[in-house]
Amino acid sequence: MDLTKLTIKQSHDGLVAKEFSAKELTEAFLARIKKEDTKIHAYLEITADLAQKAAAEADDKIKAGENIGLLEGVPCAIKDNLLVEGKKCTAASKILADYIAPYDAAVVKKLKSAGAVILGKLNMDEFAMGSSTENSAFGPTRNPHDLERVPGGSSGGSAAAVAANECVYALGSDTGGSIRQPASFCGVVGLKPTYGAVSRYGLMAMASSLDQIGTLTKNVADCRAVFEVIKGKDPRDSTSASFPQATKFKLEAKNLKIGLPKEYFAKGLDKEVEKLVRQAIDKLVKQGARVEEISLPHSEYALACYYIIMASEVSANLARYDGIKYGYSAGADQKQETNNLLDVYLKSRQHGFGDEVRRRVMLGTYSLSFGYYDAYYLRAQKVRTKILSDFSQAFDKVDLIMTPVAPTPAFKLGEKIDDPVTMYLSDIYTVPVNLAGVPALSLPCGQVEKLPVGLQIIGKHFSEELIFQAAELAEALIKGGNPLYN
Ligand code: GLN
Repeated sequence: MDLTKLTIKQSHDGLVAKEFSAKELTEAFLARIKKEDTKIHAYLEITADLAQKAAAEADDKIKAGENIGLLEGVPCAIKDNLLVEGKKCTAASKILADYIAPYDAAVVKKLKSAGAVILGKLNMDEFAMGSSTENSAFGPTRNPHDLERVPGGSSGGSAAAVAANECVYALGSDTGGSIRQPASFCGVVGLKPTYGAVSRYGLMAMASSLDQIGTLTKNVADCRAVFEVIKGKDPRDSTSASFPQATKFKLEAKNLKIGLPKEYFAKGLDKEVEKLVRQAIDKLVKQGARVEEISLPHSEYALACYYIIMASEVSANLARYDGIKYGYSAGADQKQETNNLLDVYLKSRQHGFGDEVRRRVMLGTYSLSFGYYDAYYLRAQKVRTKILSDFSQAFDKVDLIMTPVAPTPAFKLGEKIDDPVTMYLSDIYTVPVNLAGVPALSLPCGQVEKLPVGLQIIGKHFSEELIFQAAELAEALIKGGNPLYN
């Protein structure tokens, strides 16, 4: 049996039945990473010591006849913008190349308390800015389905690691699509929870009104299992919220009303992608679900609105990397000449940040500056309110909205890197969800010439359980999810 192919539930059952130990499971993954990751480069660092310690603890409990939780002894990996105490946390940036995390992020602490085995830290676009993982200062990650293609981004390492069986599940972050788009490109399940559903304490901030931590897993059941552990209010993140206690229900397709926004099934959407997405929805319709065309009329402004708000927040959040407080300092770099404090600031940022990060800091500083604030930032905030109200009105009519995740399957490495606007367009269906703060899940729904395609399922605030149940219905109807682990 290849242990690296198992889901969380299968791993758990095997551990409980003593078919294998947590140590054997962990070693199987460490061996697989060693073999596969030279090609894929999903990992920036392996934390074998942490993993082996957690595995031994799980094995002790099993040996002692104690009950273990679902995540206990099961190997996972963490995007490198989430702090794991005592380990490097680089956000894939040169400016943090040697930065050691002084504490655990809230989600990491929760996973550790649940007995998770943390295998390592995963590659990403620098500070989560990008859609291909090519913006990593430490080299790109490759798509396990086709090594010439990108895994998506910015959580490309997370999606690739799960797809390539280099961990059972992973954590990522999603500011404008960074969990869902790579999940779609790699054929795994990706969840961006409701804004505030998961504490962001210990997540390196990109754009604070949009950032959310979420999961990448092999199936919907695993997604629910990890989300249950990481969700919840945390006094250290004032934007986090208690999850309303949902009344238990069992969804049947015949009770489901799905909205298809006409603005998403329009020009620019790859025909093959559209076909697969529509086929998946048709399968639910055959089971009795109803569909209705809806309109999200401000969709055409979403990308522009996102790129103003996000960049503005980026410029504020990244001001802390000044060459003094954290990480790389031109002042301590023998190769740099610095004559005064301003020189240290400027040169640390110039040499520490990559092109895309500097581009966004400049755009954001500009749109927040005196004289431009009203025309850009304030205007974008007003558009954001319109986008939110589009979603609220849609959810008066339908239970869930279904759309493609990205307009195309995974593109080739290098194909879009020199043209930022084309790259930004790959987020067109995902950014409105972050602007509105609603939850959305990316579910594999087939392949175009072996390249996975995702169906996006969007719900109201805090409707994760409904999303899971609808996704499980669809998952059962769609055959042949991810060929890599089927
Ligand atoms: N690709 C988007 C961007 O570059 C989304 C990033 C993200 O969600 N972190 O902004």
